[in-house]
Amino acid sequence: MSEAESSPRPELVLQGVAASHGIAYGQIFVYVQSDLEVPEYQVEEAAWGAEIARFEQALVVTRQQVQKIMVEVEKNLGEEEARIFDAHLLVLEDQALISETIRDFEKSRANIEACFDRVAQRYIAAFEAIDDEYLRERGGDIRDVAQRVLANLLGHTGLRLSKLADKRIVVANDISPSDAVSLDRSAALGIVTDSGSKTSHAVIVARSMKIPAVVGLRDLSAMVQQGDQLLVDGYEGVVILNPTESTLFRYGQIQRQKHTQEQRLMDANRLPAVTLDGVQLTLRANVEKSDESALVKEYNADGVGLYRTEYLYLGSSSMPTEDEQYAAYRALAEALAPAPVTIRTLDLGGDKPIASQAHLFPKEQNPFLGYRAIRFCLDHLDVFKIQLRAVLRASAHGTILLMYPMVSGRDEMRRANVVLDECKAELRAEGIAFDENLRVGTMIEIPSAAMTADLLAQECDFFSIGTNDLIQYLLAIDRVNDRIAHLYEPTHPSVLRTIRHIVVEAHRARIKVSVCGEMAGDPIFTALLFGIGVDELSMTPPLVPAARYIVRNMRMTDAKKLAQMALAMDSAPAIHALCAQFAEERLK
Ligand code: PEP
Ligand code: MG
Repeated sequence: MSEAESSPRPELVLQGVAASHGIAYGQIFVYVQSDLEVPEYQVEEAAWGAEIARFEQALVVTRQQVQKIMVEVEKNLGEEEARIFDAHLLVLEDQALISETIRDFEKSRANIEACFDRVAQRYIAAFEAIDDEYLRERGGDIRDVAQRVLANLLGHTGLRLSKLADKRIVVANDISPSDAVSLDRSAALGIVTDSGSKTSHAVIVARSMKIPAVVGLRDLSAMVQQGDQLLVDGYEGVVILNPTESTLFRYGQIQRQKHTQEQRLMDANRLPAVTLDGVQLTLRANVEKSDESALVKEYNADGVGLYRTEYLYLGSSSMPTEDEQYAAYRALAEALAPAPVTIRTLDLGGDKPIASQAHLFPKEQNPFLGYRAIRFCLDHLDVFKIQLRAVLRASAHGTILLMYPMVSGRDEMRRANVVLDECKAELRAEGIAFDENLRVGTMIEIPSAAMTADLLAQECDFFSIGTNDLIQYLLAIDRVNDRIAHLYEPTHPSVLRTIRHIVVEAHRARIKVSVCGEMAGDPIFTALLFGIGVDELSMTPPLVPAARYIVRNMRMTDAKKLAQMALAMDSAPAIHALCAQFAEERLK
């Protein structure tokens, strides 16, 4: 080892955006998304049949994807260009490739992706070695299709992160929501990314998994080396590369202090969310997966105010079936009954592209202003109806509420409800039970919906304000762009006025309003939002204790005064400071 290599690397302190609370320290794992790594493990005898079926299914799904791509390419570029993909379809039908993979599996009994990868690599190498341009290109076709098949088998690239061998701090340029959701909590000590902001979906997932995270570090992933040590301070948004002994000692103390504070909040978390002047308030949970009922109960939330169902789709290599969705929704509703579970229909697109269904979501210049959520569902009634039927069926087994994301106004709400009525009629005809009084609401996250809240209220049983999107659209700040993250201001007067307007219109129509964006889980805003008149807050479960603590230590009359003062002010930082002081005094 040279002298330069053996001498310790100097400590380097970098400031990013605090995304998920907590302190973590450990060796880094630099996560590179581009090349797919294929794990290898032995398959037990009982699962041999299922392993072959998984392979066949992946080939079918890949074939469908390629065919859909061909249709798109033909439409957009022409027939000749679409023919390029003929070669891909031929690879998928290549009996030699398929039977060799199965032979490899019968011999090695290794997982099918490892067998397929081995055989495909042999083919690619053989074609690429041939001194003929046409045949060399065929090697490229096999490589492309093989990556696609592997991505389907692996449920996209997330598996690489889910198979983190040791405890590591994950450092990446960016991680996708499906990567985040597949993370192994016991192995991922912390997450640090170059891009992203507090409300990017991967960060929201990290928060619910209680993984400390700092984002927006620009080019950290290019600066670090595998094996470097990193300290992540998810409270202050600081990361320290190769920290010294004295830094580690200081952070040890901070960690103990934070732990004591968190324990104090947790101790009071079983008590009711009642203000000092006797007003009972409602704190619900946001969940991403149907198996999170234990988390909801652990943090004593009043049921679920937002279930982001898209993670069911993101975690799967094909669209989940009606029965699979029904089972997931029913499990959550039954586990939490009689507390309500608010199921939000599919919100794919934006920063949640779905790898296995890439053909349905063409690349866009402005994904957040594009083909996502209800826009996609109303354009793909086959996909939408499967989900609505599953939700309706599950509604017979607990207290389920249904809501639509990204509704822009009354017409869209009506169109969605027409589809819902069709599903209800189908189920009645089939003699399948569902809750005839199912309450149906909408997210309010587009300014046009906010401005027409009076019209929308006539079509809805409740509103849920999605501040993550509402703020990005009101202020024209891309919620995942780290360069402008500092301009993303929840206390901008326009945001407060818009929330007040929604609340006033909802109450005029006698319906309730919840806030389920990240603003709802920030204790700085608990009193402000309740003071404006919001009826319920819904947040990542680990954030419930701090909100409850504030509620139990505030008077509703003071929260109302705070809201009145804030609404009369003209500066976002000043409003923020006022709210922060209010919260700090109550959290003491
Ligand atoms: C929101 O926009 O505030 C919201 C809760 O929805 P999502 O974060 O899933 O877009
Ligand atoms: Mg949203």
